Amino acid sequence: MNKSIPIKGVIFDLDNTLLDFMKMKEVAVKSAIRGMIEAGLEIDEIESFKDIISIYEEFGWENQKVFDVFLTKSIGYVDNKFLAAGIVAYRRAREANLLAYPNVNRTLVNLTKLGIKLAVVSDAPSREAWMRIYYLNLYHFFDAVITFDDSGERKPSSTPFEMALKKLKLKPQDSLMIGDWPDRDVVGAKQIGMRTAFAVYGDTFGTKYSGADWDIQDISEIITIIKQINNIV
Ligand SMILES: [Mg+2]
Repeated sequence: MNKSIPIKGVIFDLDNTLLDFMKMKEVAVKSAIRGMIEAGLEIDEIESFKDIISIYEEFGWENQKVFDVFLTKSIGYVDNKFLAAGIVAYRRAREANLLAYPNVNRTLVNLTKLGIKLAVVSDAPSREAWMRIYYLNLYHFFDAVITFDDSGERKPSSTPFEMALKKLKLKPQDSLMIGDWPDRDVVGAKQIGMRTAFAVYGDTFGTKYSGADWDIQDISEIITIIKQINNIV
């Protein structure tokens, strides 16, 4: 791949690339547990946290019935008093802790100033992805947002990447993908000829070798990378 071709567009993964999804989940789940305990549910705080995380791992991170499953496992049925206490505490904590990583806003502003087109490609459901983008106030930056509901295929399928590039009116070789999941973000983008950056700061897998063209510790590093490639001083 010719690394010197100017970059005209950047496609971002959303969760754990633009926003700290796992941190938000952790804080929100812990709040939910404390909320349920305060409502009178007799459970162990630490064990319950492990149980709920394993329910997410089993049924998916977007599962909306996690506390129903948890209550059924813990006390044998869904008590709506405890369920409400958990959900309300969860939502309040989620709202307060859904935060972009450091330098995300500055980086997107700077890329826009350089005339770089921006898009999001996410495996999250459309509604949840858009909610997160709105919470973060990032909705003005993106020319395209392609979610699982738009493409019907998860990364590393080339379909969502191709859909985003079509909307940006760019070719794969003119663009850069940045994501935290090598097997999906890097592999998917690389196979169609995009350049790739691995978001080390969002890594939850303990990745040793990302396979990306660049491993970045901070999102703002992509400004430096693009300036170098595009010969901007
Ligand atoms: Mg991700």
